[in-house]
Amino acid sequence: MTNSTIEQKTKESRRSSAGPSSSVSGQSNEPGPDCPLCPRLKDYREANRAQHPHWFNAPVYSFGPIDAQLLIVGLAPGLQGANRTGRPFTGDFAGDLLYATLLDTGFAQGSYEARPDDGLTLMDCRITNAVRCVPPQNKPLPAEIKTCRPFFNATLDEMPRLRAVVMLGRVAHDTTLKTLGVRAADAPFAHGAQHQTGSLRLFDSYHCSRYNTNTGVLTPQMFRAVFASVQNYLG
Ligand code: SF4
Repeated sequence: MTNSTIEQKTKESRRSSAGPSSSVSGQSNEPGPDCPLCPRLKDYREANRAQHPHWFNAPVYSFGPIDAQLLIVGLAPGLQGANRTGRPFTGDFAGDLLYATLLDTGFAQGSYEARPDDGLTLMDCRITNAVRCVPPQNKPLPAEIKTCRPFFNATLDEMPRLRAVVMLGRVAHDTTLKTLGVRAADAPFAHGAQHQTGSLRLFDSYHCSRYNTNTGVLTPQMFRAVFASVQNYLG
């Protein structure tokens, strides 16, 4: 498929996706704190609220400036990470590696202290999750990924300067392709792979999970190299 064909399909796909329709938050294009669209995730949210009343326990919004050129896409909030703190990738192991790498490569400034009021600032970079609510066992169902896709779609659409997307893991890769209307065969997943779709450059990375780093699937050096490639691309 040519880039121009992909670009046209991308626009058509994003136009044809229904916009967010659940209760809407004060923040544009984000779900309300009690979004009811995924019954299983709603039940899990309410159970976590009962068990951990001081946790965030709500759909986690994107973090970072809307005019950023880079968007990082994770899968869903971690139970004791973003679901606890309310900021993507904040408070669990994946965040330790992600934010250290962003600080190291100039996409963040300040210090990361695993809490949303640590003053860390993202630079020309935004972080989101394909699914806004924490799923049991970190595994959203395909229907939940699909149901939350309009919010993810809106995140892409509201970023006027977006040029690069880093997709953390295969599921983030797959749902990003679906959202953009790109055929999987035209952009196969591989760590370090890059795919051009119209005006967007997509970068694949293994997810920065504890499991992937403990097993050596992903090293800090491999992860840093992805963001160095993004830096190089954005100039
Ligand atoms: S995952 Fe998305 S669509 Fe589903 S309940 Fe949460 S915010 Fe709503």
